[in-house]
Amino acid sequence: MKCVFCGGKLKKENVTFTYEDEDKYLFVEDVPAEVCTSCGEKTYSPSVTDDLLRFARNEFQPARTIEVPIFNFVERV
Ligand SMILES: [Zn+2]
Repeated sequence: MKCVFCGGKLKKENVTFTYEDEDKYLFVEDVPAEVCTSCGEKTYSPSVTDDLLRFARNEFQPARTIEVPIFNFVERV
């Protein structure tokens, strides 16, 4: 299989998937993906994509929780 964006070679790798939706932000670690060795684009299989949506719907408990500081560039104190 080749990268759909640049035609580069893909290699299997476990990556961290990031989900962002308004005030919701989550990371899923150790996700099996095909990563392009040229442009870095990540491709997930259909079954992995289905599972990732289940994480986004809070169907699982997080393994751990981290605190993320939010800064404002204009209103910095
Ligand atoms: Zn690529």
